[in-house]
Amino acid sequence: MSKSIAVIGSGFSSLAAACYLAKNGNSVEVFEKNDSLGGRARRFKESGFTFDMGPSWYWMPDVFERFFADFGKKPSDYYELDKLDPGYQVVFENGETIEIGDSLDKIYKIFDREEKDGAKKLKKFIDNARKNYDIAIKDLVYKPGVSPLELVTPKTVAKLGEFFSTVDKDVEKDFNNEKLKQILKFPVLFLGAKPSETPSFYSFMNYADFGLGTWHPKGGFHEVIAGMVKLAESLGVKINTNSTIDKIIVEDKTTKALKINGETKDFDVVLSGADYHHTETLLDEKHRQYSENYWDKKVFAPSSLLFYVGFDKKLENVKHHNLFFDVDFNTHAKDIYTTPKWPKEPLFYANFTSKTDPGTAPEGHENGFFLIPIAPGIEDTEELRETYFNKIMTRFEALTGQSVKKNIIFKKSFCVNDFVKDYNSYKGNAYGMANTLLQTAFLRPKLKSKKVDNLYFTGQLTVPGPGVPPALISGKLVSELIEKN
Ligand SMILES: Cc1cc2nc3c(=O)[nH]c(=O)nc-3n(C[C@H](O)[C@H](O)[C@H](O)COP(=O)(O)OP(=O)(O)OC[C@H]3O[C@@H](n4cnc5c(N)ncnc54)[C@H](O)[C@@H]3O)c2cc1C
Repeated sequence: MSKSIAVIGSGFSSLAAACYLAKNGNSVEVFEKNDSLGGRARRFKESGFTFDMGPSWYWMPDVFERFFADFGKKPSDYYELDKLDPGYQVVFENGETIEIGDSLDKIYKIFDREEKDGAKKLKKFIDNARKNYDIAIKDLVYKPGVSPLELVTPKTVAKLGEFFSTVDKDVEKDFNNEKLKQILKFPVLFLGAKPSETPSFYSFMNYADFGLGTWHPKGGFHEVIAGMVKLAESLGVKINTNSTIDKIIVEDKTTKALKINGETKDFDVVLSGADYHHTETLLDEKHRQYSENYWDKKVFAPSSLLFYVGFDKKLENVKHHNLFFDVDFNTHAKDIYTTPKWPKEPLFYANFTSKTDPGTAPEGHENGFFLIPIAPGIEDTEELRETYFNKIMTRFEALTGQSVKKNIIFKKSFCVNDFVKDYNSYKGNAYGMANTLLQTAFLRPKLKSKKVDNLYFTGQLTVPGPGVPPALISGKLVSELIEKN
């Protein structure tokens, strides 16, 4: 039977769910508090520069294909993809770089160059990572996290040991070269926890990285959001911006209505893609499933200090994606996870989409996106932001061998306070709750409320976890649960 369904938020998970629910004949309305769509994947344009505000690594293209195929479409019906070569470069001490090319053969050569039998060791590592990818992405992540039994299949039982070891241990065991070890530990950072807290099974992220490659949607990552909005509207979804949900109204333990910008509107079902903790604060306390203590004990993905920067010249010695791993990873990780504080010498990431996609900056200019991962919930002031901007710019100039500070013609920062203000993010987390062993699958916050009928959740704090591909999957999973009930 057709239902009237309200979807809170317009991030990837909300839009994905809205598409599935509308396809099934429901009347679906999306409410986004901000004046633009996409949630963490919003974009802004300034003085001829285009900046994606959040995601920039388009990984796991098969997940996007699978999403659009569910509607008889292809990604290329909405946006154009380029496979980047190199996928990215990693910058080490003294500006030494390693480029990760667009094929496994190219990457094997690099590993042989850096370590004796590097290619042989990598082949073994990647063969296992590929098997894990097939198990995880083709099957496991499409389970709704309702029961532990979902995880028990002949294939996963054979892999049990890999849930109790860690990516860090495996990499340390198999490789000697410090630079290669850092590169192999990088992909699981997308899951929000340290490699030493991430089960070995998650090495499927290494296959996503080396085996499937890094892609770029022409015009920027937000083009994917634009495509999904187009798809949603073609399916009849009504999308509202500047529409803040102030309250979820519950009667007889069942959702009845939403208060939107102060006005009440009735719905049969409410689905929230806003941060889970925030959504529960929209309920009276007796209807909340998880206490403040529960959230406080969870391992959240880092927050970020971000800078969107316009340069009035082309930059040298940088690629589209660049990881600055010239300082100690473990010291920085401790400042994020163990004793949260501002890192003394942070690792950072920078992208310059105008290197491969000239339309994203004026001719002869470069757009820069700089990201420092930091602990969620730490102090955020203009002074701190500026101190860290100067810190990384000085290092950036030295490592890439050029002066850039005087070529900055635009700069905007975004940090903990903005994540809270713009997205109602718990402690200003950038990308949800980490995928540690105890925060995986059925151990994550539930898609369906245990206390209120017809109330559902989706997004990076639910299953399967942080990142854009998981957000698409989360939207599909929750729409299936809604249809079942
Ligand atoms: C800086 C950064 C870099 C990232 N890089 C990558 C990357 O390279 N690759 C990758 O795959 N992933 C990346 N991620 C993660 C990825 O962007 C997220 O996991 C994903 O976009 C989350 O989607 P979502 O639907 O769960 O939530 P969100 O995008 O957060 O959507 C939630 C929406 O709910 C809205 N909302 C909140 N409260 C209310 C309310 N009361 N009323 C109405 N609306 C409300 C918010 O405004 C927001 O639009 C990155 C994230 C960040 C922040």
